[in-house]
Amino acid sequence: MSRWRSFILLLAAICLAAPEGAEAKNHRGGGGMGGGGNMKKDVMGGKKKGNADAASVNPMDPSASRAIHERTGLIETGLKPVYPDTAVCLEVKSPFASPTRFDGSERVQWAYHGYHNGFDISAPIGTPLIAIADGEVIHRYTGGQLVGHQIFIRHAPEDTGLPVWVYSKYKHFNKLPDLGVGQRVKMGQFLGPSGDSGTAGGHFPTGYPHLHLSVYTSTSAEYESAENTITPKDVQQVDPVVLFLNKNPPVTNSHAARDLPDADKNVVIAYKTAAGKAVPDSARIIWPVACTPK
Ligand SMILES: [Zn+2]
Repeated sequence: MSRWRSFILLLAAICLAAPEGAEAKNHRGGGGMGGGGNMKKDVMGGKKKGNADAASVNPMDPSASRAIHERTGLIETGLKPVYPDTAVCLEVKSPFASPTRFDGSERVQWAYHGYHNGFDISAPIGTPLIAIADGEVIHRYTGGQLVGHQIFIRHAPEDTGLPVWVYSKYKHFNKLPDLGVGQRVKMGQFLGPSGDSGTAGGHFPTGYPHLHLSVYTSTSAEYESAENTITPKDVQQVDPVVLFLNKNPPVTNSHAARDLPDADKNVVIAYKTAAGKAVPDSARIIWPVACTPK
């Protein structure tokens, strides 16, 4: 009798585990996550919380090893955004890979080993956040601390003129943007109001209103989709300032950016005015908030 009972319990356990296994197949493009070594599907798409796996090899997992993060581009590049003389722009207050927040305080070690996986632009709540380039909304999610309301946009090579797929992640909206997954957006299009969602607690008891922008690149259009994030195939984590480099041939990853001569590291940003004019007018990638002409 007790043996049957064990058998039935085992069956029940298998049945309960099945939906998670099934969810792991819920990814785009097929072909798995080859290239970046021995990535496993069950590390990414299959879990509601991808960061729960201590041995994760997913570069976008905050708890993956420092070696994995470093190899995939989470390093200081030395690039400095240069703001236009003729306009006032909201500025980066904590750059990519910085160990500190805008106020000089140290970042938590449990997320990306204390390295900042994007840049922060301090912005009063309600500041219109705009699309950095043409693209397609591919993910929307509301999470807890360090996340808040966030979306991912995928920008094709023909959207940006760059020879890679660019993925932009905007965090901390005041409300989740009214944009559906699969919806196309145009460069400069309003996405949603900035906010402080996901920032309260820990270091900021009442929150810190800002935009956190992460940029990823890939030679592939394929990505895995889980509830809380997406993972592009063969992903590189990129200093967002790289997008404004305008080099020929183009620079599309943090390592190549870091290796540039110092003279090339002051990067003039392209932007859009609130009136809708891109500066320069040939720009295909712009600052995520409009600038005000002086
Ligand atoms: Zn940030």
